[in-house]
Amino acid sequence: MGSLAVSRLADDVDLSSASIADEVAAIARKDLAPLAAAIDAGSLYPQDLLRRLGEVGAWGSHQPRNGAADLRCAIQSISALGEVCGATAFMAWCQNTLVWYAANSDNPGLIAKFADQFATGQILGGTGLSNPMKSFFGIEKLKLKGKKVDGGYLVRGALPWVSNLGAGHFFGTIFEREDEPGGIVMFLADCSDPAVTLQPCKPFLAMDGTGTYGVQFRDLFVPDDLILAEQAAPFVKKIRAGFILLQAGMALGLIKDCIAIMAEVDGSLGHVNRYLPQQPVHFQDLLSDLEAETMAAARDPFNTEDSYWRRVVALRLRLGEASVAAAHAAMLHCGARGYLRSHRVQRRLREAYFVAIVTPATKQLRKMLQDT
Ligand SMILES: Cc1cc2nc3c(=O)[nH]c(=O)nc-3n(C[C@H](O)[C@H](O)[C@H](O)COP(=O)(O)OP(=O)(O)OC[C@H]3O[C@@H](n4cnc5c(N)ncnc54)[C@H](O)[C@@H]3O)c2cc1C
Repeated sequence: MGSLAVSRLADDVDLSSASIADEVAAIARKDLAPLAAAIDAGSLYPQDLLRRLGEVGAWGSHQPRNGAADLRCAIQSISALGEVCGATAFMAWCQNTLVWYAANSDNPGLIAKFADQFATGQILGGTGLSNPMKSFFGIEKLKLKGKKVDGGYLVRGALPWVSNLGAGHFFGTIFEREDEPGGIVMFLADCSDPAVTLQPCKPFLAMDGTGTYGVQFRDLFVPDDLILAEQAAPFVKKIRAGFILLQAGMALGLIKDCIAIMAEVDGSLGHVNRYLPQQPVHFQDLLSDLEAETMAAARDPFNTEDSYWRRVVALRLRLGEASVAAAHAAMLHCGARGYLRSHRVQRRLREAYFVAIVTPATKQLRKMLQDT
């Protein structure tokens, strides 16, 4: 292929990515905005909207091609949703992560059965890697146990919180082998299996409309077709930067809206808000920095260099801290009008804390940076 043809191909890829992110942004503004309060209140899990987003390509752009992957469009799409609703941005991350697992699996049976259906939103779901991610960094022990049986494994145990779930949904998680010391296996859990129970959670500070459940496994039979990786440790090493970088979309969207909120009250309150130490311009500079760093890292999620991994972890820490700082500043800029339950700024503050506590949480990220 000549160089002109190659560059046209690259343009085509960029154009289609841009149009996916634009379509997602249009859906966010028109169809998601009126639902955001109900999602926040927990009275709505926006299943239909998530499927529609799948139809316009929101869950497919980051799948690897020829050994490389580009997460930029997926992150921009999550950010567009996050500008309007943090809970939906989180569900978008869950779905994109599920796609990321299937697309990186080397199990041909699993890929044939699920990769397309996850990427198009025909099947929804998420990820139960918080406990394994904490266990890899010495914070807690693995909660799921499994043993080999004919044609697959039997798995038992419970995970306290897994999101974007419901009947017919799947999620990726990890068990420790009881029959082989040190063996850990990553698999897809089928929420419709009778051996899986979804236990409703007590109300949260935010994120109640995200289809979040406690999940119990009572000797669940996991057939070979649902095994993402027989050796979970190298698989997690491969997918971990993507797992973390996709979370950037939640932070970037939220920070953008916090800047918008500060601008909205500038006309009436700017004369006194200018005495606050943190101004929208500070967050605009911070956002530009974080966006540039995220987009650079997102082009190269399979980079195996230690310095790259450290950069991703440090960036994720800054994204969580900047989310909380931006929402805090937006609250102070809004004053009493932001203290009304109906004002979105207090929702943004509650959502911002989630960015900082979802795995890898601020404290885990700080431990990881100290340990590496
Ligand atoms: C709304 C919501 C959605 C989430 N969705 C997912 C998801 O989709 N996938 C996923 O893998 N993780 C999910 N999590 C978990 C999340 O990623 C973090 O692991 C969690 O917020 C705690 O992280 P931490 O590092 O601060 O741990 P810590 O809070 O410091 O410690 C966590 C451990 O403390 C114990 N614990 C503390 N409080 C409770 C409690 N009230 N009930 C039970 N155990 C408790 C548990 O053993 C737990 O493992 C979700 C959490 C929330 C709040």
